[in-house]
Amino acid sequence: MTSDRTHIIVGASLAGAKAAETLRTEGFDGRLVLVGTEDERPYERPPLSKDYLRGEVGREKVYVHDERFYAEHDIELQLGRTAVRLDPSNGELELDGGERLRYDRLLLTTGSEPRRLAIPGGELAGVLYLRSVQDSDALRERLDRGGSVVVVGSGWIGSEVAASARQRGLEVTVVEPLAVPLERVLGAEVGAVYRDIHADHGVRMLMGTGVEAFEGDEAVERVRTSDGRELDCDFVVVGVGIQPRTALAAQAGLALDDGILVDDRLRTSVPGVFAAGDVANAHHPFYGEPIRVEHWANALNQGPAAARSMLDDDSPYDRLPYFFSDQYDVGMEYSGFARAWDRVVFRGDPASREFVAFWLVGDRIVAGMNVNVWEVTDAIQRLIRERVVVDDRRLADPDVPLEDLARIKGGTAP
Ligand SMILES: Cc1cc2nc3c(=O)[nH]c(=O)nc-3n(C[C@H](O)[C@H](O)[C@H](O)COP(=O)(O)OP(=O)(O)OC[C@H]3O[C@@H](n4cnc5c(N)ncnc54)[C@H](O)[C@@H]3O)c2cc1C
Repeated sequence: MTSDRTHIIVGASLAGAKAAETLRTEGFDGRLVLVGTEDERPYERPPLSKDYLRGEVGREKVYVHDERFYAEHDIELQLGRTAVRLDPSNGELELDGGERLRYDRLLLTTGSEPRRLAIPGGELAGVLYLRSVQDSDALRERLDRGGSVVVVGSGWIGSEVAASARQRGLEVTVVEPLAVPLERVLGAEVGAVYRDIHADHGVRMLMGTGVEAFEGDEAVERVRTSDGRELDCDFVVVGVGIQPRTALAAQAGLALDDGILVDDRLRTSVPGVFAAGDVANAHHPFYGEPIRVEHWANALNQGPAAARSMLDDDSPYDRLPYFFSDQYDVGMEYSGFARAWDRVVFRGDPASREFVAFWLVGDRIVAGMNVNVWEVTDAIQRLIRERVVVDDRRLADPDVPLEDLARIKGGTAP
């Protein structure tokens, strides 16, 4: 160590670990501390609802870095420690136990946590949530026992857990207040494709149905729904969304709005403090508004971008949002960001489960999703980023390469 500067990262998960790595590869040679509440060294969460949950891969597959990495790069990994107070006016961070660390620059990668369902019986044993590797272990142990599960919520986590539980042979019922799974992100048409995929695999899909209570003596035995059904079950998994973990940022007086507000350099409202990953609501130069992305690729790329910004690199973070999901034998990738759209255009038959869906506003694509069709993400992102004017008929025609659409003369926005 040659510099006497100290940089601290709070949140030892994907965004935090990749930021620490980048600080070192970009030449930061001062003291570097990575603090994390969890006892595990940084790991990736996507396998926790997929192959790791099903017992197909072991723990070693989920870690971001091998065990020696942190010592080899002189990164002080403080695991099982929670940062409890941040004092930007003095450049000090306090950990549980009272230890105080001085910092020059600090990055918050505190991520997000599952929303809890506050209904009668919500605290019964057997009502499970999924965020950590320990949650996944506990759920896997339930899957090993077999039986029946009610999954509450059919967002990405609920949908993937339902698929994994079915793949492990359990009886699965999904209860969802909206009309189709994933409706908020994908809309009714594409959500219906996922409803049918689950139904085809034998999942009982109770759409348009809320949950009133969990019932049982000590552990949950049944779920009472808004339409008066009583669903017997051995356990429940709740996946009703997540919320950014902002307690530390709030206490420190950082500007918040659905997460920690940061500019396109990932700087918070307080000098010297940065944020990235699930917790950051970052101004996006392409969209001209703040966007909070709760997905793996964002943590993977935004952590390093924040690290570069901590080192005074002046480049904006402007990657298009991207995420993936795997359910049964259906893999998908989604690029872009669509709060509203006029229509969806399909390239390929959704019933074949090999297609690309495009969400359009006027004659421009705002988001695209490839399902069991690969190596098209770059072309889709180009169509979105260059705001190419598209013709629905050609967009829908699998014989017209996406690259050709992007080359249409005069097709780009000013
Ligand atoms: C089961 C599951 C499956 C997923 N599958 C996919 C997928 O298929 N595709 C996809 O794109 N995305 C997926 N995701 C989302 C993806 O994993 C997240 O976007 C990613 O984990 C965000 O990383 P992060 O580092 O920002 O935050 P997190 O992973 O939430 O990590 C934040 C860390 O900060 C720690 N922390 C919080 N506060 C403090 C504090 N005060 N002091 C110390 N430490 C603190 C937390 O304990 C935690 O370890 C999945 C998520 C889950 C849970």
